[in-house]
Amino acid sequence: DRIISGEADMLDVTFEQSLRPQTIRQYIGQDKVKANLEVFIQAAKLRQETLDHVLLYGPPGLGKTTLAAIIANEMGVNLRTTAGPAIERPGDLAAILTALEPGDVLFIDEIHRLPRSIEEVLYPAMEDFCLDIVIGKGPSARSVRLDLPPFTLVGATTRAGSLSAPLRDRFGVMCRLEYYTEEQLKQIVVRTAEVLETGIDDQAAMEIARRSRGTPRIANRLLRRVRDFAQVRSNGTVDLLITDEALGLMQVDRLGLDHIDHKLLIGLIEKFRGGPVGLETIAATIGEEAHTIEDVYEPYLLQIGFLQRTPRGRIATRLVYEHFQLEMPEQ
Ligand code: ATP
Repeated sequence: DRIISGEADMLDVTFEQSLRPQTIRQYIGQDKVKANLEVFIQAAKLRQETLDHVLLYGPPGLGKTTLAAIIANEMGVNLRTTAGPAIERPGDLAAILTALEPGDVLFIDEIHRLPRSIEEVLYPAMEDFCLDIVIGKGPSARSVRLDLPPFTLVGATTRAGSLSAPLRDRFGVMCRLEYYTEEQLKQIVVRTAEVLETGIDDQAAMEIARRSRGTPRIANRLLRRVRDFAQVRSNGTVDLLITDEALGLMQVDRLGLDHIDHKLLIGLIEKFRGGPVGLETIAATIGEEAHTIEDVYEPYLLQIGFLQRTPRGRIATRLVYEHFQLEMPEQ
């Protein structure tokens, strides 16, 4: 339930629908990814072919789902959406694939969570647009080949490393989404405020951007909460004063760190003299699962140079001591 989590919560789901940019031009940032996709999309359209399969990877909330919808929109085809954990049996996937129309984009979120047996159904579907189905059981079982309409698979994952090599190799286009700069997040905040018909001044938009951990989902969520404060406590316009007050009350500090980041970093300093300390030990100290730390808390702390990952464990850098105004021990 962290306000600065990149993962979507129930409230985000409906709120985000109205905020999604529809075209590649409206999509802010990720310039390299956009430039590549624009060329591939145009080329596919000129040749009247389907776009190659695309893998989007990067931390949650950076705009993978949004980009998948934009790809479908720019290609002028339908978007079908599903997620790795929702496909339990090969038959589930077969039902989705056979219902596609020629050229459709099939978006599979969290594709690294597809069971292996289902991945295997996907290989011939991606490569040759066909399905190999086994009919019957035991000695009378036989395999039947079914043709599928050509389609583009867009897979999204937060863990490209967890994808099996044969699946990864079948994507023609691989796009790594990066954390956004403060300037780009500011543009996203201003755009969202426009959609919400909320007045916001420049400094407030920048302050929200600064505390959003490089992530549009967090920027939009913080803006939504600050807007509530502005409406109740002031005249409805989001300015720096109300932004500071609201984010302070929500315990989101100047860099977008919250009480869990604080617990992790201060724990590392006070209990382990700043490390190196193993992930499992950190996890036990703050009462979290090691993989949650690795997937959710740590990426941003690594990105801003607060943590270093070494073979002997995690180390808190000088920046952490400076942030908390603590003295760094002599080596
Ligand atoms: P997850 O994988 O956790 O679902 P995601 O990477 O698919 O996350 P999205 O759902 O696409 O993230 O984006 C989250 C929100 O951020 C959406 O409301 C979207 O409108 C907004 N957003 C993302 N990227 C951009 C962008 N480049 N420009 C404007 N808004 C963006």
